[in-house]
Amino acid sequence: MEKLFDLLSVKQNIIITTHVNPDGDAIGSSLALYNFLSKYNHEVSVILPNEYPDFLAWMKGKDNMIIYSKSKKRANSLIKKSSVIFCLDFNNLSRINGLGETINNSKSFKVLIDHHLDPVSFYDFAIHNDKACATAELVYDFIENMNIEFLDKDISECLYAGILTDTGSFKFSSTSSKVHRIVANLIEKGANVSKVNELIYDTNSLDRLRLIGYSLSKKLKLTGNKKAAYIVLKRDDLLNFNFKKGDTEGLVNYALSIKGVNMATLIIETKERVKFSFRSVGNFSVNELARENFNGGGHKNAAGGSLEDKLSVALKKFLNVVSKNEKLLNY
Ligand code: 5GP
Ligand code: MN
Repeated sequence: MEKLFDLLSVKQNIIITTHVNPDGDAIGSSLALYNFLSKYNHEVSVILPNEYPDFLAWMKGKDNMIIYSKSKKRANSLIKKSSVIFCLDFNNLSRINGLGETINNSKSFKVLIDHHLDPVSFYDFAIHNDKACATAELVYDFIENMNIEFLDKDISECLYAGILTDTGSFKFSSTSSKVHRIVANLIEKGANVSKVNELIYDTNSLDRLRLIGYSLSKKLKLTGNKKAAYIVLKRDDLLNFNFKKGDTEGLVNYALSIKGVNMATLIIETKERVKFSFRSVGNFSVNELARENFNGGGHKNAAGGSLEDKLSVALKKFLNVVSKNEKLLNY
């Protein structure tokens, strides 16, 4: 940590990046760090691999974020000029698509701040704890170590958004007493929690609600001796409901909420691949399941992955994997 603090004691060209399809923790922790480091004499840029959902488009600094898939040249030139790169909320450069190669080739000092299991080593320094409820919790710790006086209302709301979304609104077992203490401090610094909750959860489009309704009434199925629930959405389903990024966020949790269900999966057909979102309760590790069978990973109870197969093939493989795990799911 001393080396990082020394490095940050003089002006640096800093890049902050986070994972593909960024969620509340990815955007919240990145913009919190961006706003914090901008209070020093640094040049700071946030580069996202791809677009982020509208319900996160309110945090301070959002207009300065660069989307790599749309502005490769600009992003690459900023990375070339950079001296320090912060990698937030992911544990493997494969999680940031094409941006990963540019960052891997960069000579900049790389700092990982992350809470996913088993990070792959590509960094020079890591602030890593897989017990942290969100990367935002680790960014809070970092700010507390560096200068808590710089924590203002805007940074607090970014951090609160990260913690709120990654703990499932303070429901998951990662929600320690420390997390509540951090949030108490964020509120003291001015975070308006009812406003943030409204911005994140009460800005549904009619299309999105109808897509959720359709998914639950027509697409939700049980398998694995009724211990596993899953929803399959085809590309056409998404098109029919004018799908926008973020519209399926949280959908998998409805499936998990069925009494007796210990694992839930959302399976989405995209142009290039079939994407899987896994959730579990209790001991069953969807992280292992995703790593071993779906080129993915994440946390024990929330993970993702993908297969580059046709939907029918991918679905068959999925049902097979569940069937093989049926005994483990029976608790
Ligand atoms: P979600 O289902 O919300 O997309 O992701 C759940 C968790 O799994 C997140 O922590 C996310 O970072 C991780 N995750 C999602 N997709 C992938 C993937 O394709 N590969 C890996 N390694 N992790 C993923
Ligand atoms: Mn996270």
